Amino acid sequence: MSITITDVKTILTRVPLNQRTITDSQSTVTHVEFMQVVLQTDAGITGYGMNWSYTPGLHAAQVMVDDHYAAVLKGQDAFLRKELVRRMFFSNHFVGRVGAARVGIAACEFALWDIACKAAKLPLWKYLGVAKERVKAYSTDGGWLTWSVDDLIRDATRLVERGFDAVKIKLGRPDPREDYERIKAVRQAVGPNVRIMTDVNCAWTLPIAKLWGSRLADHDVFWLEEPMKPEDVRSHQLLAEAITTPVAIGETIFTREAFRDYIVSGACGIVQADATKLMGIDEWLEVAALAATYNLPLIPHTNVQQKLHVQLAAATPTVMMVEHCYESIEAIWEEPITVKDGYYQLPQEPGVGLKLTDATIAKYRVG
Ligand SMILES: [Mg+2]
Repeated sequence: MSITITDVKTILTRVPLNQRTITDSQSTVTHVEFMQVVLQTDAGITGYGMNWSYTPGLHAAQVMVDDHYAAVLKGQDAFLRKELVRRMFFSNHFVGRVGAARVGIAACEFALWDIACKAAKLPLWKYLGVAKERVKAYSTDGGWLTWSVDDLIRDATRLVERGFDAVKIKLGRPDPREDYERIKAVRQAVGPNVRIMTDVNCAWTLPIAKLWGSRLADHDVFWLEEPMKPEDVRSHQLLAEAITTPVAIGETIFTREAFRDYIVSGACGIVQADATKLMGIDEWLEVAALAATYNLPLIPHTNVQQKLHVQLAAATPTVMMVEHCYESIEAIWEEPITVKDGYYQLPQEPGVGLKLTDATIAKYRVG
């Protein structure tokens, strides 16, 4: 059996958040960009992939697909996925080995998986093989950096009342003492049984990370996420040796080799691989296998494409839970995934589940 790709189309959209402006130590988020990749085939199956960014510039990845990857894919058998990814990667590897080049490849790779799953008439998690039939969620939809302490407490309390027992708070205020007091206030509000995670979004230097990272244990913080620049493995290694709170990394790491360097050197305690930053699902599964071999939990980064990572989580024994965020724009997806009592409801329809609704495209298309 073969399924020939007959056409490759891309659509760029810019979707406003229907909620208060979101802030972390690096970004103020008012919109999220999505690039939809659509692969038509001779079998009547359409494959949908996508990638996203909450900083502007996803058009660069769209150019990669339109100008380079479309020609690689057209006329080929969609089942040649791994070989097609290799060809896409080398089609422009002097221009970009990471960043927009990979973001574009991942969008195409998801569409190739979508075709394979639909041909098998299975949702991705069943196609991969099931490890668990319930996937726990944790929430990032609160805890933003410019929130007042009262806002933080209100959001955390509301999320716990809804059934979440794990919430994340952004760190990286100009004075780290403020960060410390904000965590303390949330811990007092939610009590000892709720997991609190923290996320610096790369704002700290090593001495600050050592000093304030060591004090997170005072409030039983479950992890310290992206304390420093992702390129600096050595500083993360020194930090991980100096503090007891696990260091979490992955949302801005683009290659399995970079994950290897973190994992082998002991520079991270929690692996947050995101298939949209890697070259798609196949490379994510390789990182998952590496993390499992080193006995590290995998808790994928995800904020706008939960359906993808929830399905990967259901097929991966070492995934503890999956991030839940940007709930206000959930309705952009066809058959969006939902959380009930702190757990995701697994999708039953065949495919990967990354199709934007026609209404979303009609309303928010750019270019
Ligand atoms: Mg993060």
